[in-house]
Amino acid sequence: MIKPSLPDNEEQRLQALQRYQILDTAKERSFEDLVTIATALCGTRMGAVTLVDRDRQWFKARQALDATETSRDISFCGHAILQPDQVMVVEDARQDPRFFDNPVVVDDPHIRFYAGAPLLSFDGLPLGTLCVFDANPGHLRPDQAQALAALSRQVSLVMELRRYAFEIQQHMRDRAWYEQRLSEYNALLEQQNADLAEQSRTDPLTGLPNRRAMSLALEAAVTDADGQPRQTAVALLDIDHFKNVNDLYGHATGDHVLAELARLLRAHFAGQGLAARYGGEEFVVLMPDTPLGTAELQCDFLRMAVADLPLGIPLTISIGVAAHRHGDGVDPTLARAAAALYRAKHEGRNRVVRAD
Ligand code: GH3
Ligand code: MG
Ligand code: MG
Repeated sequence: MIKPSLPDNEEQRLQALQRYQILDTAKERSFEDLVTIATALCGTRMGAVTLVDRDRQWFKARQALDATETSRDISFCGHAILQPDQVMVVEDARQDPRFFDNPVVVDDPHIRFYAGAPLLSFDGLPLGTLCVFDANPGHLRPDQAQALAALSRQVSLVMELRRYAFEIQQHMRDRAWYEQRLSEYNALLEQQNADLAEQSRTDPLTGLPNRRAMSLALEAAVTDADGQPRQTAVALLDIDHFKNVNDLYGHATGDHVLAELARLLRAHFAGQGLAARYGGEEFVVLMPDTPLGTAELQCDFLRMAVADLPLGIPLTISIGVAAHRHGDGVDPTLARAAAALYRAKHEGRNRVVRAD
């Protein structure tokens, strides 16, 4: 027996074979069909699509053959791929010095006749064969040899198409993966944008809207959706002698007092109105659809509630309240509320003063 030698381009050939990712895969109808046609064409009982791996030949499709693979050393196909552009024919293996004592000749399946057409990769590397064989000696007519070679090209084509199909599937999976990532990043960005927008409108210490947010709310509140003026009241309030709180109890306690006052404001105007931190220890309250007298009363309730806060520190506030005048901008209204607040301070603090 003569073992098949290795082609010069063996490493390249093995790399090419790997690219098809076909070794040890399941049966596929198209390959089985081509083997059926090949055996019918050549009048043999057995046939196979074999792929020549480094040390073995593996059968992608087989007819009347039990083995799924054999060692490359005893393979006929190992010899066939050495002449990639020819159909190798062995009419009687018992008479051939390469095969006469080969185990597949001496024992099962007792091969005598063999014809194998090499399967070429698109760049011409031999990957295996489409082969037919039989337990009786035989002969291949030239037209049969031509047809077997033609069929082997069909096998190669099926392999190539199969590889494209896998590549496309892989691309689709990659693409789906990237699209998924992209939409996740988008969602994250949108969330971050929303957080930033929220932060730019919220005072971090008290959680109340800040001055900026309040200005926007004021603009919206003084005019109704239909452009009609509304009875809007605006109150400015300032903690009395807050500097003393910081000086006597420390800045942290000062912060705590601000946060508690904010909590009270939010509760007090939860139903109607909006409270915001205007800056430092000053707050502004927007009271939509509220006549000035009612607003003044509400502010006085607030003033009393602040004096009753269980802070362990005496705390009072002064408030200036103004009604928005139709035709005015927001700033003049705030200025009038500030002037009223100034008077409240001057008149002794812990009181509500309404603007003229
Ligand atoms: P008035 O009754 O005239 O309003 O006296 P006041 O002490 O409240 O007024 P003043 O404007 O002199 O002082 C305000 C103080 O508020 C000074 C400042 O340190 C303090 N303050 C402003 N913002 C904060 C803050 O975020 N945290 C703390 N702890 N203190 C603050
Ligand atoms: Mg102040
Ligand atoms: Mg103050």
